[in-house]
Amino acid sequence: MELLWVRDDLRLVDNPALNALLSLKSKDSVAIYIYDSRKFEQSMLAPANKVFLHHRLIKYQKELKEKYNLDLIMFEGDAFKVLSQFIKSNKVDNVFWNRRYFPPLVEEDAKIKKHLIMSSIHCESFNANLLIEPWNGLKDDGKPYLVYSAYFKKAYKKLDYSLTKMKNFMFDRKTKISGHQNKIDLLPKRQWHKTLHASWSADALSTTKKLRKFLKNDVLSYNAKRDRPDLDGTSSMSPYLRFGVISPKMILTELEKVHSKNRWMSDPNLAQYVKELYWREFACQLMYYFPYTVSKPLRPKYKKFPWKPHKQSLRAWQKGLTGYPIVDAGMRQLWATGWMHNRVRMIVASFLIKHLMQPWWKGAEWFAETLVDADIASNSLGWQWVAGSGADAAPYFRIFNPITQGQKFDVTGAYVKKWVPELANLPLKYLHAPWEAPKSVLDECEVILGKDYPEPVVDHPQARVKALNAYSKIKNN
Ligand SMILES: Cc1cc2nc3c(=O)[nH]c(=O)nc-3n(C[C@H](O)[C@H](O)[C@H](O)COP(=O)(O)OP(=O)(O)OC[C@H]3O[C@@H](n4cnc5c(N)ncnc54)[C@H](O)[C@@H]3O)c2cc1C
Repeated sequence: MELLWVRDDLRLVDNPALNALLSLKSKDSVAIYIYDSRKFEQSMLAPANKVFLHHRLIKYQKELKEKYNLDLIMFEGDAFKVLSQFIKSNKVDNVFWNRRYFPPLVEEDAKIKKHLIMSSIHCESFNANLLIEPWNGLKDDGKPYLVYSAYFKKAYKKLDYSLTKMKNFMFDRKTKISGHQNKIDLLPKRQWHKTLHASWSADALSTTKKLRKFLKNDVLSYNAKRDRPDLDGTSSMSPYLRFGVISPKMILTELEKVHSKNRWMSDPNLAQYVKELYWREFACQLMYYFPYTVSKPLRPKYKKFPWKPHKQSLRAWQKGLTGYPIVDAGMRQLWATGWMHNRVRMIVASFLIKHLMQPWWKGAEWFAETLVDADIASNSLGWQWVAGSGADAAPYFRIFNPITQGQKFDVTGAYVKKWVPELANLPLKYLHAPWEAPKSVLDECEVILGKDYPEPVVDHPQARVKALNAYSKIKNN
């Protein structure tokens, strides 16, 4: 029999491994998903994105059955053991999968491939989820890029977004398989996951609809809107890209249907959107070559940063109770929907690292647990970028001012009012710095600082000076 090993590629379209299975036209085929809860898998599958995965697996199982009569069966356990046992119990001739890039997983795949080849089983892997695989976007000297703009220049020259042309075939499995499950329960015990699920459809069709709507209307005002958390100005494709419900090649193919490729780099909005997609590729390359950046700074001198770990500060940040409205709005949006606007991700990360002096990896861990799009490469890149310790990172002296950032990007105050409703009646003038409001205004709006909404956990000007001092000590090392 023939086997498709399903991983982060939960789609019917532009799926080369699935297409390889279809091309064989062997009726006796099956698709398997293995949920492996070991440590390195946990680092990518955490409560929030497991909620998304749970619902997507159910939909994908149905989609595969309806379109190709292909069964998607599930196992739990060590992938090597599960697969070895599977091929021992069933006569398997071919195994297909799409590649992953996080080094511990790459090692696992290599080990499995070797085992399959030694057992005389044909096995083939493909690129399904990237525009350019890490080893194809290196500098001329064979080293990975550490500067995004140079990386983009090289990678974009090699752009090929042709889609896999999917074959059609109806499978009809005869071999009986034992020991598997039809469903894996990845939902957490707490009811919190219901609001996450309500925010993200796991359906492939609605993903395409969402993308088309963005590409038709919003992409042309992307630059004006992409930094505005109060507007719906970005594509919201991140969870779908994370689990391969959609591929970046599919996004570009859809883009070309509405905006010709000749315009992509000449129109600033289109150029910016395409470049954002390449940040994901850049993150993947960095993680592939520098896997230690999950928890350690890319630039070693930052190991000496004088962090001040403090549980209460971290907790106030996690709960959205820092007393800085834009930070609290972001953290509450994250908790409720499993997603946070990119501008706000930068603001809250900067606040945790620079105002509260908490280790960036503590913030990254919280994001990994609560984001539906949690992705080990993009998350580590984002945090190290803000901390100043990563590739092409923000300069150490860039300390986001949570008050002016709020005023500049949440211009109407709608974002803060939505997520921090206790401040909804405050005049816009004080919304991003409620402690500056005169007592009479606070009284009129029925806000008691320290009771209805926290006083600021740190004083911004003092925190800024402290962070600058700490950074300047290590910057010349
Ligand atoms: C501290 C921090 C942590 C982050 N953690 C993650 C994460 O775990 N997973 C994740 O997918 N993104 C992460 N990002 C990047 C970015 O915030 C999200 O990709 C983006 O907000 C997703 O929304 P969107 O799909 O509407 O983006 P759009 O603006 O529509 O962009 C389209 C796509 O481009 C990619 N992209 C855009 N910006 C970035 C970026 N800075 N880095 C990498 N890819 C990018 C994403 O795949 C995104 O879906 C993080 C950023 C920061 C600052």
